[in-house]
Amino acid sequence: MTISNNLISIKESLPADIVLVAVSKHKSNNAIMEAYCAGQKIFGENKVQELVEKYAELPKDIEWHMIGHLQTNKVKHIALFVHLIHSVDSLSLLKEIDKRAFQNNRIIDCLVQVHIAKEESKFGFSVEQIPWVISEAKSLENIRIRGLMGIATMTENTQQIEKEFHLLKNLFDAVKTDQINILSMGMSNDYPLAILHGSNMIRVGSSIFGLR
Ligand SMILES: *Cc1c(COP(=O)(O)O)cnc(C)c1O
Repeated sequence: MTISNNLISIKESLPADIVLVAVSKHKSNNAIMEAYCAGQKIFGENKVQELVEKYAELPKDIEWHMIGHLQTNKVKHIALFVHLIHSVDSLSLLKEIDKRAFQNNRIIDCLVQVHIAKEESKFGFSVEQIPWVISEAKSLENIRIRGLMGIATMTENTQQIEKEFHLLKNLFDAVKTDQINILSMGMSNDYPLAILHGSNMIRVGSSIFGLR
């Protein structure tokens, strides 16, 4: 299977209202161009340096999403062009994005990352903090909270994964507005389950590009 075949068969299997973010971390420009030429325009990266290099080298109509943990001191490198930041996991980060967006005369769309997994290592706010984060964000004029993002536990136990997706969907429904309407959940191993549980944005890497 080639990258374009993988991409096309995934796209054909998706309901029409699901946004596919092709996660291209560690993948070459050639690999990205193969997906791009097959029609994919939204790519996700998890490292600032890689994101900056790929932005510089690849077509300018690509929408670049930052999906990995973002250090506050690195926001300035992506503020000019990043399309959506999925991984807002602290208020200080949100304030820094706001500041750098202002300096670039932009409004940057953000998702608030929610910690839903059992693993301690996953970043994100607790479920209980989310209404507070959203209300704090209202005073920041150069960011726009567009929704929530979560990463389920890495496990074969689908019941556990479903429980976590269900939790995030309930939270999403509680905070949803016209503006807060993106629910980013689901990766290669669990995106069909995520869609069943109300995801409308999936982040798929290895099923498109092969194992890293
Ligand atoms: C790597 C990554 C993905 C994609 O993972 P695959 O299992 O390769 O689909 C999705 N979301 C985040 C946050 C990631 O870091």
